[in-house]
Amino acid sequence: MERVKVAVVGAGPAGIAVGVEAKVAGIEPLVILEKAPHICDTIERLYRPGKRVDAIYRGIEVEPIGICRFETESKESFLERMKTWVERYQLNIHLNSEVNYIKRVGDLYEVTVNAEPKFLAEFVIIAIGIFGQPKKPDYPIPKEVKDRIFFEPPSFCPASGKILVVGGGDTAAEVACFLCQRCEVYLSYRRPQFFRINPVNLKILEEKVAQGRIKLLMGTDIEKLEDDNNRVKVFYKDGRVDSYDFIFYCLGGSTPKGFLKYIGVEFDLEDNPKLNEFYETSLPKLFLAGDIAVQRGTIQLAFNTAHIIIKRIKDILSEEAHDQK
Ligand SMILES: Cc1cc2nc3c(=O)[nH]c(=O)nc-3n(C[C@H](O)[C@H](O)[C@H](O)COP(=O)(O)OP(=O)(O)OC[C@H]3O[C@@H](n4cnc5c(N)ncnc54)[C@H](O)[C@@H]3O)c2cc1C
Repeated sequence: MERVKVAVVGAGPAGIAVGVEAKVAGIEPLVILEKAPHICDTIERLYRPGKRVDAIYRGIEVEPIGICRFETESKESFLERMKTWVERYQLNIHLNSEVNYIKRVGDLYEVTVNAEPKFLAEFVIIAIGIFGQPKKPDYPIPKEVKDRIFFEPPSFCPASGKILVVGGGDTAAEVACFLCQRCEVYLSYRRPQFFRINPVNLKILEEKVAQGRIKLLMGTDIEKLEDDNNRVKVFYKDGRVDSYDFIFYCLGGSTPKGFLKYIGVEFDLEDNPKLNEFYETSLPKLFLAGDIAVQRGTIQLAFNTAHIIIKRIKDILSEEAHDQK
């Protein structure tokens, strides 16, 4: 097994920012383990081509506190920025490396990659995000309609069709605006008003609504779905019934609790991982960074968690060096 100072799980914005901050702080050797064949899988997979990557997302304005920061730019420019950082800071990233288990062995952590124990690390930082597990509705999806229902944003716009988008956040707004280029689009949101869409998305959405290209179904909640001859029949709780060719759910992601509980991270009464102010878990020297560490994640917030964690690790290492003298 290879001995490292820090093992980082996940090469999304949080994992890469951890690498950058650690390099500058002189903390090494460090390895970043990424299960996908490329870095930033959430962005690569879920952002459609040309998507704007907003520096202020979900209305959350976050002041950068560390090295990593960005201005609003396209998906492609953002990914290029991340690749440049990987090269500039010579980050040691292992792709196609899924971490399945982490266990404490003495003062170290044994990290299992693709079902084999591969690394012994003094510190572990888990930065696996929440989008491996998209949130799903609590009513059943009949198997006859499964191929007409999507839990990820579309990467291309169908040539035609009647589409229902479900959700009230930025992703739902962006997906509706993207699909209305060629399709008849309805947007169902259970609240009477949007409250967490950023102003740019809201303006674009309102323009499309005014042009009649998107119909808003505000204050609507879905009760159940049924097959309707190659369409999906939607029964709303207010008694309304309508059929669509496709449904896109944009409900966000959820913390991969199973993985964290499996490795022994403790949870609080509200079922959130117990973290101190440095994002350290109940397991000493094991931290959570990025979306998995905060309630409502954004890229800049992910960058900032990385800065706080590496500063803490630096302090722990200097305290230990001092004690040894
Ligand atoms: C459609 C959409 C649009 C968005 N738009 C914006 C926006 O405009 N601006 C903004 O600030 N935020 C936006 N967000 C949110 C933003 O993408 C997240 O806040 C950000 O990606 C969080 O970074 P992260 O590194 O914590 O997690 P992620 O980006 O999810 O990265 C996690 C990485 O860990 C890897 N991984 C997972 N499990 C394992 C494992 N077991 N072993 C090894 N690797 C693993 C994954 O493959 C992935 O590469 C958007 C999200 C979505 C879904």
